[in-house]
Amino acid sequence: MEKTFFIIKPDGVSRGLVGHVLHRMERRGFVIERLEMRQATPELLREHYAALVDKPFFPKIEEYMTSGPLLAGVIKGNRVISSWRTMMGATNPKDALPGTIRGDYAQAPGDSGGIFNVVHGSDSAESAKKEIALWFGSDAL
Ligand code: UDP
Ligand code: MG
Repeated sequence: MEKTFFIIKPDGVSRGLVGHVLHRMERRGFVIERLEMRQATPELLREHYAALVDKPFFPKIEEYMTSGPLLAGVIKGNRVISSWRTMMGATNPKDALPGTIRGDYAQAPGDSGGIFNVVHGSDSAESAKKEIALWFGSDAL
């Protein structure tokens, strides 16, 4: 069975959405294998978002993701990598469909331009391996 890495981002934790998000995973039949409250560091985020480090908006991502505690975890299930991405919805909540987490719980970006979108999920098998090992160590793979 497949595993993926997820985050309930600082806005999801501070808005009290942890239970809602975990409920959706459990309702879908995914097994929660790891779950931990963390405070992300800039060093960890530069690894996690290595593909985005050179983008002009990276400082905003860093500010957002270090703004408070987040919930990091690993879930397991059939085709869980792509299924979890579908459940999250589009990156920008303005495009996220109702019924998805981002479409149900997040707003379009405001004047600051920051995209606060509640959840993260690995985008491929390769990313899932990298991110699980980065956050939980290779024992979690
Ligand atoms: N992000 C942002 N502005 C952008 C693009 C991305 O603030 O123009 C943030 C947003 O929180 C997003 C994260 O950076 O979820 C990672 O971006 P990615 O393109 O990997 O989207 P995701 O995989 O999270 O859907
Ligand atoms: Mg991504």
